Amino acid sequence: MGAGPGDPELLTVKAQRLLCEADLVLHDDLVPTTILALARPLARVENVGKRCGAKGITQAEINERMIEAAFRGLRVVRLHGGDPAIFGRLAEEIDALEGADVPFEVVPGITAGSAAAASLGVSLTDRRKSSRVIIVSGHRATKAAPYDQTDWKEVAREDATLVVYMPGNDFTPLARELLAAGLSPEIPAVVVSHAATPRQQHCRSTLGTLHDLPHMDAPAVLLIGRSVDRARRKRRDSVSVAFEEAELILSAW
Ligand code: SAH
Repeated sequence: MGAGPGDPELLTVKAQRLLCEADLVLHDDLVPTTILALARPLARVENVGKRCGAKGITQAEINERMIEAAFRGLRVVRLHGGDPAIFGRLAEEIDALEGADVPFEVVPGITAGSAAAASLGVSLTDRRKSSRVIIVSGHRATKAAPYDQTDWKEVAREDATLVVYMPGNDFTPLARELLAAGLSPEIPAVVVSHAATPRQQHCRSTLGTLHDLPHMDAPAVLLIGRSVDRARRKRRDSVSVAFEEAELILSAW
């Protein structure tokens, strides 16, 4: 089940109902306590996130935990941040449940890229500027690791909005690849950290000046494309801080 990007109001009605009915909730690191608090007081709520939760827990162990609880007759919610089908290992979990003959249902959630775009008034497709949305992981986008997962030439399209999950902090190699593939340095880009939470921040730039962006806290998504030029400069009640070529907006919610 998807928990959405963090704002409890962005949970689906169905997710909220199932959370209230669950006996066991196995959740990712990114799911905030404000959402976990919706579980029944008697429900067991376990963090199976890879970062601060059960350190060292493997995907196989998470699968086992779901299956074992289901065999005991418990109603289990496997709660992912955002949408479980976007960088969430959903397919592996489905394979495991099907292999064990455990009945299940997939409940979608609002993915971080959608929430980030919405919060800035950006439309990911715009028939005048962007006819497609490309979702990629920048996960290997570090100095140490080459882009051996994403073919950046393939995704460098002037008519697309590129949504980069797990973009890391050093955008230089990513920008270099996209520029080398022929994208204009003028193409707008925005990085949105903690989208749809009280800690949301965003910082606007262009592909040519992406390397100047200040460090943004994880989790963050990077949006690149002509459709992103609509990214709001200011929210109402927001504080604006000027950077050399970028602008950091601290949303005061
Ligand atoms: N299933 C999730 C994505 C999991 S991968 C979804 O659909 O949103 C984890 C990555 O998602 C993070 O590294 C970050 O790139 C992105 N992410 C998740 N929540 C976010 C948030 N509130 N704001 C910005 N990015 C977020």
